[in-house]
Amino acid sequence: MKGESLPAGRQGRNVHLPFVYRLSEHWYSELIIMKKSLYIHIPFCQSRCGYCDFYTTIYKRNIAVSFVSVLVEQIKKLDYNFETIYVGGGTPTILDIDLIEKLLKELKRLTGAVKEFTIEANPDSLSEGKLKLFSNYSVNRISIGCQSFNKRKLDFLDRAHSVKQALEAIEKAKKSGFNNISIDLIYGLPAESYKVWQKDLDRAIKLPVTHLSAYMLTYEKGAPLYESLRAGEFLPLASAKAAWMYKQLIDQLAKNNFFQYEISNFSKKKFEAIHNLRYWENKPYIGLGPSAVSFSGGKRQRNISCLPKYIKAVRKQEKIWEYSEKLSPPAAAKETAALKIRTKEGIDFSWFRQKTGFNFLEIEREVLPLLLKQKLIKYGQGSRKRIKLTRKGFLFADTVSATFL
Ligand code: SF4
Repeated sequence: MKGESLPAGRQGRNVHLPFVYRLSEHWYSELIIMKKSLYIHIPFCQSRCGYCDFYTTIYKRNIAVSFVSVLVEQIKKLDYNFETIYVGGGTPTILDIDLIEKLLKELKRLTGAVKEFTIEANPDSLSEGKLKLFSNYSVNRISIGCQSFNKRKLDFLDRAHSVKQALEAIEKAKKSGFNNISIDLIYGLPAESYKVWQKDLDRAIKLPVTHLSAYMLTYEKGAPLYESLRAGEFLPLASAKAAWMYKQLIDQLAKNNFFQYEISNFSKKKFEAIHNLRYWENKPYIGLGPSAVSFSGGKRQRNISCLPKYIKAVRKQEKIWEYSEKLSPPAAAKETAALKIRTKEGIDFSWFRQKTGFNFLEIEREVLPLLLKQKLIKYGQGSRKRIKLTRKGFLFADTVSATFL
């Protein structure tokens, strides 16, 4: 198929969808009616990881103080309870503890109905003091960026922490009373063997974690490893081998009671990430912070991807987004299809009609025969009321998803 590529990149994670400083009437009413989600992008890191193309900058306390102050101002203007809150980045835990407390104190007012409140953490900056603070302020889920338990893999990825720190971070979170702990893993590095990946999986399975996101290494433009690859410093892993590692991942986790509910996401029963499921169902969310995205009523806006400019715009009450698009109803429906097909349950036709107002079989009629012929998608068992990815389709999910657009 034209443009086929292996899936399981970091797209699921990279939906940092944002904040519109002055919500329009339409947005506001939709957010009031629907259950809402809030994403906050903390754009600071210790250093730049080789594979990362997110908007981040090296942590400096003085600019972090200004940033947290403007976030607090923005949060003060929000006056409803969120169902899910996700503080990601960047590295939220790199903030000094007084700044984290300032932020959580302001968010507290919005957590009356919160079901899931996640904070992303990196192993080298997750202290017991910060964990205690999280518990005190209704945070009930920690997502730890481990990436691997193999030193050579961590070195290649330019991670700032050690294997020991990753294991200790999980242990600390558990001891601090967190029962919902997620970890991220990356596979498919140049020359990575099945054995090395298997060891990562064996280790992850034994840890007290309830959720696992596993991403195949991709070389995104703007990431340091993209340049190294272009300069011929290494050869990428053969795609057939990467595909086999993906199968290894699915099989190993299934045998150990981690259920796959999206291309790259696995969880113990009832521990699916509610916040991320809302992205894949194309539900509305507000994003705060530079480069974060907001979505509501078919309108998407991405905030300014420059921290000083973002801070300045908020202070001056100017527009904080650098990109905005309003999708037509058919385009919004197609986008819903492209997102929802990533999930294990696929697309239920009556859900789709209710959500978008369109008949799925009608709106995607041009591409369905080819995808079915290529065995990338199939009808739900025993009925033709739903369509979902096949096992092969999971390997090419990004392509299937793009075909729906
Ligand atoms: S991967 Fe995470 S920790 Fe590394 S630079 Fe990107 S945002 Fe920061």
